[in-house]
Amino acid sequence: MPVVEAKQLEKTYIAGDIAVKAIQGVSFTIEQASFVSFVGPSGSGKSTLLNMIGCLDPPTKGSLQVMGKDITILTRKQAAIFRGKHIGFVFQDFNLIPVLTVFENIEYPLLMVQNWPKKKRTEQVNNLLKAVGMADQGHKFPSQISGGQKQRVAVARALVTNASLVLADEPTANLDRTTANNIIELMKNMRDEFGTSFIFSTHDPKIMNNAETIFTLEDGQLLNNGGGNHV
Ligand code: ADP
Ligand code: MG
Repeated sequence: MPVVEAKQLEKTYIAGDIAVKAIQGVSFTIEQASFVSFVGPSGSGKSTLLNMIGCLDPPTKGSLQVMGKDITILTRKQAAIFRGKHIGFVFQDFNLIPVLTVFENIEYPLLMVQNWPKKKRTEQVNNLLKAVGMADQGHKFPSQISGGQKQRVAVARALVTNASLVLADEPTANLDRTTANNIIELMKNMRDEFGTSFIFSTHDPKIMNNAETIFTLEDGQLLNNGGGNHV
């Protein structure tokens, strides 16, 4: 079963009397444990596409299956539950909660979404702190760590619920080149270790070379079909 299967996907935003076709007739398949990037200039539809896959915003037309489930028919509440169980998110600006420690930030989805007992939570968070190379930083607050470290924490947070799919929208946009490459490398290692599928977006061609599969977007259309580094 593919992780994502999109057929003739469309998203049109209506702003006043103007209709913006953000995604137009896009079809693709992403297999489990993939490491995929959507690449394209600003405004090409990357966020729109990731938001649809993440069940944050429904498509206007077409079919979209995530983990074998038709997500176009979910109510907002069903979408939220589905997201909480299966999908982790990493954001461009890290989105850590400033008043929580690194440990507590990673633990947060387990408290919000899943009802794990404390001992199991602590064990899981410690495992992830270690996996992202932050084992001794759990007590710090986000203001006390670097941008690259913040993104490591965000990757750990995305994985803490054992999500099968992580969506990362321009996760390296606020990082320098070296740190950005380290974060991509970290996500790839997490894919290898946990079998999680990673889908990220970038407008940086230097970063995209680290993806195994590249989908190129332009004006809401796919220019290729996931050839990238695998061809
Ligand atoms: P990217 O992430 O590649 O920069 P986006 O998916 O954010 O691209 O945007 C694709 C197109 O859709 C752009 O033309 C953008 O202006 C438009 N768009 C995105 N979100 C909205 C919205 N909520 N309402 C209206 N237009 C939008
Ligand atoms: Mg975007």
